[in-house]
Amino acid sequence: MSRSASDSDLDEPLGRSRAPFRRLRERWHARHLDEETWDDLEETLLLADVGMPTTTRLLDALRDRARHAGIRDADDLAPLLEAEITDELAEQPDRVLHTNPGQASVWLLVGVNGVGKTTTAAKLADAHQKRGERVLLVAADTFRAAAADQLESWGDRIGVAVLRGQEGGDPASVVFDALQAAGARGVDLVLVDTAGRMHTKRNLMEELKKIRRVVERFPEALTEVLLVLDATTGQNGLVQAREFTDAVGVTGVALTKLDGTAKGGIVLAVEAELGVPVKLIGVGESAADLVAFDPAAFAAALVG
Ligand code: GDP
Repeated sequence: MSRSASDSDLDEPLGRSRAPFRRLRERWHARHLDEETWDDLEETLLLADVGMPTTTRLLDALRDRARHAGIRDADDLAPLLEAEITDELAEQPDRVLHTNPGQASVWLLVGVNGVGKTTTAAKLADAHQKRGERVLLVAADTFRAAAADQLESWGDRIGVAVLRGQEGGDPASVVFDALQAAGARGVDLVLVDTAGRMHTKRNLMEELKKIRRVVERFPEALTEVLLVLDATTGQNGLVQAREFTDAVGVTGVALTKLDGTAKGGIVLAVEAELGVPVKLIGVGESAADLVAFDPAAFAAALVG
């Protein structure tokens, strides 16, 4: 992406999530490792929205590590915690954003309104165009003119072409037209920003499935379905996320707004509970604020 995820890059955006772990480490200083240490850690992980099942598994594994390492001081637990979080995240092996070189690859961005789909599509467009790729943005929300307007204004700002359909038109046919245009124009990457209205949930899922089927008429074109999730909604976001993973076969998560929340632990819950890798994290509102997710850098920024 626009930035590589070195630890120091993430320290500041993850500041709010990091603070409780900082305080924890201050409390651990010069203390023996005892049950209170474990209780404190459990509370902090739950506050960070890691969620009960993942917290329990993490703590069990960490107790084993601490026992094997013969740890007696609470201070010495910190590096083990960082390693455990990194290992937990390493269970998702594939964080690559896939493309099929030599043809137009399509990435669908799905998720409920307000999570940051349009912004993330624009950030991706900017990053890939800067690498020399030909990029096309597609506004597939024909329901809300404001959504397409917003994508167009991003397109103007970053200098990427935007295709939109008629208001109230069939989103799947907008996508079909866009893919034909992409083929004709020698586009490398097509980023499709979809609708996210939740009050007519069933229709939305049917609409997304239809878009998916249309893309699949172009062999090998669809290489990513990215579920955009807002980190500030924490555990609540996971319920909605499941509806998308069930309906459209998600290949990766873009977790936005990690800069504005203390719920950074949600990364762990997303992967454990949805079984889908977090591939991208959003750490701000500008085009450059999108980072390829790296487990070790994340663990270091959160608890290191
Ligand atoms: P959509 O309805 O899913 O397309 O969401 P938008 O892309 O319109 O984003 C909704 C709001 O979230 C906008 O104000 C964005 O600037 C903001 N936003 C998106 N991503 C991030 C992020 O990573 N960090 C922060 N702080 N704000 C973000």
